[in-house]
Amino acid sequence: MRFADVIGNVEVAGALVSMADSGRVAHAMLMYENEGCGALALALAYVQYLNCSNPSGGDSCGECPSCRQMSKLIHPDVHYVFPVNKGPKTTDDKPTSESYIKYWRELALANPYFTEADLQRAIGIESKSGLIAVAEAKAIISKLSLTAVADGYKAVIFYLPEKMNQETANRLLKMVEEPPEKTLFIFITHSPEKVLQTIFSRCQSIRVMPLTKEEAEKVREMNPFDDSEEYDQFMELFSDLMRAVISGDLQAALECGEIAAALESREKQKAFCTFAGQCIRKIFMIQQKMPQIAGVAEHEEEFYSDMAARCGKGFCMRSIANIEKVVAMIDRNVNSKILFCDLVNRMFLSIWPR
Ligand SMILES: [Zn+2]
Repeated sequence: MRFADVIGNVEVAGALVSMADSGRVAHAMLMYENEGCGALALALAYVQYLNCSNPSGGDSCGECPSCRQMSKLIHPDVHYVFPVNKGPKTTDDKPTSESYIKYWRELALANPYFTEADLQRAIGIESKSGLIAVAEAKAIISKLSLTAVADGYKAVIFYLPEKMNQETANRLLKMVEEPPEKTLFIFITHSPEKVLQTIFSRCQSIRVMPLTKEEAEKVREMNPFDDSEEYDQFMELFSDLMRAVISGDLQAALECGEIAAALESREKQKAFCTFAGQCIRKIFMIQQKMPQIAGVAEHEEEFYSDMAARCGKGFCMRSIANIEKVVAMIDRNVNSKILFCDLVNRMFLSIWPR
């Protein structure tokens, strides 16, 4: 991937290029993005640029052997780590990213803007949570201990370090602190507050900005999965819930909560929460008179403007915080009926200051 192919975030790309050009390459970097805003695309373009044998004009050539390997995600010195679990697509008892690398490549090549849910679907673990377990740390340490195949940088692109437990982080820490020469870690997170402090504090952080409406539209066109069914299902549920809450119909709102709690897996329930959180952020942006960065599709403008006009001040921020709590509690196996019932009640009570 060349920087020229990255959608949006021109300034971040510029910063990465100057870092590479000046030789001040951070050995550990943490890119923080809202899901799907292109941190992986930027990371791939950056590593490709660093290893290109003929870069010019602030971009890689796209044609040298290194660029060609990068463009197929088969560069021997570039490794990928992402959350996995046992599933039907591997026979490994303790799967690591390597067990699923084929599916990762297919997904990232088709659409580097994929979401965590897309990844879970691609590797066949929709009903489970992905984790980065200690076996992964061992695998990475042994890969990085080998001499580089080419003479460029060795890199680990580490997707969602927040899915790593303490033991894994402890194993990796020394490597992140004092990596072998010309080795870099690029962590991509959606929840920087959940990244273990020991790792976080050793990284240079970079904020990948939300995409504009036009950029988001381009990304949507790239998505190989037919997400429209889930999108429609979630949008219908979210708009029913909002309308019930706004019109003061607690019964109808609670019914929406029950539908959410009955979604078939914990991952799907969390995906709905993420979706609802994103929708409420859009409402918030419109309330803040920043519709240009709200990223609302044209056919939904009326709905969101209506909601923005009808929600009380403070509703959005409180609801986003409450939704995030629900996601954390789902992860802890708390009964989802209780969680969604409580969430709906809280939204109901905070829609207007009563
Ligand atoms: Zn090149």
